Amino acid sequence: MEQADVVIVGAGAAGLMTAIWTARSCAQNGTSARVVLVDGAKKIGAKILVAGGGRCNVTHEKVLPKDYAGGSRNTIKKVLKAWSARDTIEFFAELGVELKEEDTGKMFPVTDSSKTVLNALLNECNRLGVEIVYPWRVKSIEKTDDGFVVRSDEDEIVTARVVMATGGLALPKSGSDGLGYGFVKSLGHRVTERVLPALVPIITSSESGWITELSGIAARVSIEVHSGSGKRLVSFTNDLLCTHFGLSGPAALDVSRWYFDAKLDDPKAKLVINWLGDGSFDDLDAKLLEIGKQSIGVYLRGMIPDRLGKMLCKRCGIDPASPGHGIMREQRRALVHMLVACEVVVAGNRGFTFAEVTAGGVPLDEIQVSTMQSRVCDGLWILGEILDVDGRIGGFNFQWAWANGHIAGKSIAKSIAQSV
Ligand SMILES: Cc1cc2nc3c(=O)[nH]c(=O)nc-3n(C[C@H](O)[C@H](O)[C@H](O)COP(=O)(O)OP(=O)(O)OC[C@H]3O[C@@H](n4cnc5c(N)ncnc54)[C@H](O)[C@@H]3O)c2cc1C
Repeated sequence: MEQADVVIVGAGAAGLMTAIWTARSCAQNGTSARVVLVDGAKKIGAKILVAGGGRCNVTHEKVLPKDYAGGSRNTIKKVLKAWSARDTIEFFAELGVELKEEDTGKMFPVTDSSKTVLNALLNECNRLGVEIVYPWRVKSIEKTDDGFVVRSDEDEIVTARVVMATGGLALPKSGSDGLGYGFVKSLGHRVTERVLPALVPIITSSESGWITELSGIAARVSIEVHSGSGKRLVSFTNDLLCTHFGLSGPAALDVSRWYFDAKLDDPKAKLVINWLGDGSFDDLDAKLLEIGKQSIGVYLRGMIPDRLGKMLCKRCGIDPASPGHGIMREQRRALVHMLVACEVVVAGNRGFTFAEVTAGGVPLDEIQVSTMQSRVCDGLWILGEILDVDGRIGGFNFQWAWANGHIAGKSIAKSIAQSV
């Protein structure tokens, strides 16, 4: 039977970072430790490789608690304070991966290649003597008096410390298929009742089928979730992409978890788009009254893509070639409403196969976030996407994983040092 000082389950961003910081901190303490990182996947780091369209959006220039949903903002703040975006930038620079900032604040490797990021993490694990074992799919974790027995179908490892870094349910073919939730439950933890796909493309219903006719159109919009009573619950301003199934692009992905979560509490919750990005009904109505001889189609072209303008006109029974002053009041007001408060009827979403992250997971109040250690089970650390935290688009989910891994690694090394 194999023995290890710590078994880290899951070699994604959180698990790799934990392994590196455990091994680095043990070396600093002068403690020798056997750090074993196991992963069920045939290829390590699939999610890092596909991230950011193959470029890996490693972090964001500015990371704030409000960029996340799920657990308490105050608790999230403590984690972000312990490991900032600046720390991530310096950490990767030390590994030879220089990051560059784009206009949106997103940070990517200067190589524009995710491989650079994954290789740097794997090389550092290798340099530090971390044992990465794969494919080694954990099937059960048994708690014993002295620690744990971690079992795959063929093998088992005895250890005093286990790290659950198995991710959530997003992109299950990468290896994170939700088995981790069963392990943490078997060790005494809860998982939130709702575990939903987040950062997920939205499928529109046939009532809003005209959106799919605009496939390929992109616009900078505001997209909001309104309660059934009309209260604005959340709003994002970003690029929206109309597709053959409905809506995608950063605006749709960001709003998705809020919409589908709200819908479960309030079936009348609505998804509402301001195609201009901002501007009120009254302001736009007043502007349209002033365009006079200019055609409505030409006027709209200055603000939104031509095909979108024509489609909105068509839906309001307006000929885009009509001069502004020739449009009936009712039609003009219908068009203004479509432009600034267009309700889109949603049929569903594309599910975990297309989601970038998972909303829900192990509640943060069951974790001591100064160490990422379980409050429920001795010798257990839980981190990354399996926790009830999900970030918006922009590098925030990796930042969460790096921060968690750094905190956990230092704490595990301390625990190892105390036991020798
Ligand atoms: C298409 C896509 C693009 C993304 N792009 C970005 C981006 O650019 N920037 C950003 O910040 N975030 C991005 N994300 C989100 C980000 O990738 C995740 O939030 C992050 O990878 C979570 O890290 P993790 O280590 O917690 O989990 P994961 O990366 O999911 O890693 C979990 C690991 O655990 C392993 N595992 C699971 N169960 C077992 C088991 N039973 N036994 C052994 N191993 C197991 C899995 O094989 C996997 O390797 C993207 C996600 C997707 C799907």
